[in-house]
Amino acid sequence: MLPCFRCGVCCSGYHVQMSLEEARRLAERLGVGWLDFMDDYLDERWPGEDTRVLRQSAGRCIFLDQPADSVFGLCRVHEFKPSSCRAWMSGPDRKECRQGLNRYWNLSIGDDGRIAGLPEDIRCFNTFIDSIAREEH
Ligand code: SF4
Ligand code: SF4
Repeated sequence: MLPCFRCGVCCSGYHVQMSLEEARRLAERLGVGWLDFMDDYLDERWPGEDTRVLRQSAGRCIFLDQPADSVFGLCRVHEFKPSSCRAWMSGPDRKECRQGLNRYWNLSIGDDGRIAGLPEDIRCFNTFIDSIAREEH
């Protein structure tokens, strides 16, 4: 098991798709009128009639808040993010999580499924994971 360490890689690789109804609910939760929501947050190139796709900015989901080179990405709609984002689970087999581990922590997943790398890097990473866990409780 690999808890999500909020590297933001998965929020950069995918175009989040949702039903029209879900998009409308998201606009409501944000307190944004539908027309403004379409202009600011939806990809106007998406041809779907019953579905919508979130816009990206600089190759990332429009709702990902992550300064350049920060190890930590924040979803600005975490409390009511789309169902496809809620269903996404982190894990050692996910190439996105592996990429984030490598890019931000200089770590990898060994053949035994455990985190591999320099002891100091592993220590830093575990401290970070603990701080996230504390924050969530
Ligand atoms: S809505 Fe949030 S969780 Fe989903 S891709 Fe965008 S930033 Fe990531
Ligand atoms: S790639 Fe994995 S660790 Fe990074 S934010 Fe996504 S689920 Fe979390």
